[in-house]
Amino acid sequence: MDTRTSPCRARITQLREVLAKEAVDALLVPSSDPHLSEYLPGRWQGREWLSGFTGSAGTLVVARHKAALFADSRYWQQAEAELQGSGIELVRIASAAAPAHIDWMIENVPRGGTVAADGQVLGLATAQQLQARLTAAGIALATDRDLLDAIWPARPALPVQPVYAHVAPHAPHSRADKLAHVRTAMAALGATHHFVSTVDDIAWLLNLRGSDVEYNPVFMAHLLVQADAAQGRPGARLFTGAGKVDATLAATLAADGIELRPYEEAAAALAALGERDTLLIDPKRVTFGFRQRVGAACKVVEAINPSTLAKSRKTDAEAAHVREAMIEDGAAMCEFYAWMEEALAPSRPNGVVTELTIDEKLSAARARRAGFVGLSFSTIAGFNANGAMPHYRATPSSHAVIEGDGLLLIDSGGQYLGGTTDITRVWQVGTASAAMKRDFTLVLKGTMALSRTRFPRGTLSPMVDAIARAPLWAEGLDFGHGTGHGVGYFLNVHEGPQSISRTIPDANMALEPGMITSIEPGVYRPGQWGVRIENLVLNVPVQTSEGSTFGEFLEFETLTLCPIDTRCIDKSLMRLDEVAWLNAYHATVRARLAPRVAGAALAWLQARTQPI
Ligand code: ZN
Ligand code: ZN
Repeated sequence: MDTRTSPCRARITQLREVLAKEAVDALLVPSSDPHLSEYLPGRWQGREWLSGFTGSAGTLVVARHKAALFADSRYWQQAEAELQGSGIELVRIASAAAPAHIDWMIENVPRGGTVAADGQVLGLATAQQLQARLTAAGIALATDRDLLDAIWPARPALPVQPVYAHVAPHAPHSRADKLAHVRTAMAALGATHHFVSTVDDIAWLLNLRGSDVEYNPVFMAHLLVQADAAQGRPGARLFTGAGKVDATLAATLAADGIELRPYEEAAAALAALGERDTLLIDPKRVTFGFRQRVGAACKVVEAINPSTLAKSRKTDAEAAHVREAMIEDGAAMCEFYAWMEEALAPSRPNGVVTELTIDEKLSAARARRAGFVGLSFSTIAGFNANGAMPHYRATPSSHAVIEGDGLLLIDSGGQYLGGTTDITRVWQVGTASAAMKRDFTLVLKGTMALSRTRFPRGTLSPMVDAIARAPLWAEGLDFGHGTGHGVGYFLNVHEGPQSISRTIPDANMALEPGMITSIEPGVYRPGQWGVRIENLVLNVPVQTSEGSTFGEFLEFETLTLCPIDTRCIDKSLMRLDEVAWLNAYHATVRARLAPRVAGAALAWLQARTQPI
């Protein structure tokens, strides 16, 4: 790219003029919005607009004479390509949570200088940490302004998509019950009010859904819940955009004591809290900007949102719907893979197949299934070297044709009224080499090892991360992303509080019955191929022969139903018990999916679930 014409270079030059005028030495631009969401509405994609980096995670810092983007290993190749000509340096960090950008600012901003960051999009816990580090280095933090507004004339407005109700049978628990649960938790903490900004918490709590961002069925809103809903006054105020909730739904909400208020009024409602009030907020799930608006006399208690814990523990009724969604999703897989293998036959009966064709056909197969609402994230279909980039996305201008020999990695998922899916499979195209098969088998051993683990209830999720890595570590291999993430119920494909990763654990990451988590170890060989095998699992109680002497134990029920390509397995690396697990898994997949597919899809299912 011609560095003189990169639009990002011009934007950064303009931003530097604003920095000079405001006497600011550096601007911190996180990937964040007022709800601390992972997927951001266009209005809050300032990091992408300024840098050209389109990855879903990454932090930008623009100083007077230097600029840097901080991204973890998932994005290194992509960031390097997208930052070309922008004048922004890529800083490779170990994990998305690494504070390398703070070190960088301390190094590049003079003592007595000022760093600006929009407090409206800065998490409270993050801001507190940032402020402590900068203060220690003699640097001021200004959070009271949004410097992007001045230089971003075509900045998108807030999304206006409608809000709709998630209803029975797929929403088996009423919003009244859920609000009552939250109020019980508030009472235990002595809170008179509870402010919720995270959009998945609000959607879950109120049995509402929307489509304000891609892939996550959420809508932009804040919620202020009061402890006492009695005496005819509303027990909760939902702050959301005008016209998003129609009159019928508004009446239903009113009957449950929920009053609609304009989106912009949320901060004023917090400012109105006084000395008789105690506000519960979650420092990881509310912004610094909102915390600063809370009335000075109001007491504040900090704890995890009660809804975050509650929604992570799917009930039996919800788990039953998820199993059903998995059957629909698996059936879609069979139809798609039957088509794909046919299309990749040497004669290429359907012409050229590319990574984009894969995405199109797979999405179409899902769209035909009962209860399907949309994709849960953008499909990753990466052939050979592209499969080595864990967050690769094929585009019309850059994608591979599936031809010759190698491995095709497909990571995809759907949103169904009764659950959210996320699955990765790797398929042989032509012939897989012995080295590819070795990687595939070692990754599969990692997936199986963790899938079969039993553990005491309450074990902190990061503690089981090493179990999936052990078969890889034994051979000197590893992967740069987490092993697994929590998954929502017709909600975000990434949800907390649990995370199977190298994150430093906190008490809220305890594994509890009903949690749904992914298990997705991988091996990536840059420029060659990538392997990842991902299933979703449900925490279920297990009876041990020791009874309850050693406490309550849990195990994982594998929810995902789709064959694993046994042609890629090097059986000499598998133990007998691993072979038995895989054969039993395939028997389950066949039994559950066979009644939902026919013709070529059924034949494919039968062929790909044969025991090894
Ligand atoms: Zn996935
Ligand atoms: Zn996943």
